[in-house]
Amino acid sequence: MELYPRIGKNFDMKVFTNCRFGMMSWAVLALTYCIKQYEENGKIADSMLVNTTLMLVYVTKFFWWEAGYWNTMDIAHDRAGFYICWGCLVWVPSIYTSPGMYLVNHPLVLGTQLAIFILVAGILCIYINYDCDRQRQEFRRTNGKCLVWGKAPSKIEASYTTTSGETKTSLLLTSGWWGLSRHCHYVPEILAAFFWTVPALFNHVLPYFYVTFLTILLFDRAKRDDDRCRSKYGKYWKLYCNKVPYRIIPGIY
Ligand code: NDP
Repeated sequence: MELYPRIGKNFDMKVFTNCRFGMMSWAVLALTYCIKQYEENGKIADSMLVNTTLMLVYVTKFFWWEAGYWNTMDIAHDRAGFYICWGCLVWVPSIYTSPGMYLVNHPLVLGTQLAIFILVAGILCIYINYDCDRQRQEFRRTNGKCLVWGKAPSKIEASYTTTSGETKTSLLLTSGWWGLSRHCHYVPEILAAFFWTVPALFNHVLPYFYVTFLTILLFDRAKRDDDRCRSKYGKYWKLYCNKVPYRIIPGIY
């Protein structure tokens, strides 16, 4: 199974499945649900507006940061098998947008104050998630010669041996967001999903399927990534775990 399958020279399968189809269909379907509610009711409820706006901000953030996405596990480590292809072509469009689909026939009214509160909280979470990714990528891009929260970053120089026997070095950031926990970016990711679901209020469990699935997915992913990094970096990863002992939620091992 290939890591970067291509058709011809320029058609990259993972760019198509993960970004072009998966993420673009997320935005298109979110808008479609909004339009459907308008067709059914002659207006769009504030709950639907908050849900759609947050999902569109999230997808916009994704495309803004798309170049950074090439360094994530999906692209750099996961091979283009059933898990990734079916996930991006089927699961993302149908399940990730499901809170919006629920709202089509449940045009709940939140009131201006609650709607604005949820919207601001959701945007803040999306921004923090972006900033975590940006911080790590800027740190790696500048080889650690950047400021992290206004200070020189603390780091570990971790060497590892490639499959061809070459010895290489990577920098691990141990300050900023990455000093709070080893996968702190998953906390705002889960909270953002919660905030675009909570406009559905608590009348039905269905709209909460995505955020529940995401929580399980990211907790499993954090473990998978920790295992991979432990076998890649050995004693340096142990050093990182001693320095930053929390896996996802700061304060919880
Ligand atoms: P990351 O982008 O966090 O990549 C993990 C890799 O980063 C590690 O394998 C390691 O790679 C490197 N790394 C780990 N710790 C450090 C450190 N302290 N300093 C420097 N480099 C480090 O993983 P994801 O692909 O899981 O997440 C990317 C984004 O995608 C996140 O914002 C996440 O929330 C989001 N996401 C969303 C999902 C969804 O379904 N909505 C699903 C999954 C992710 P190396 O080998 O290079 O050292």
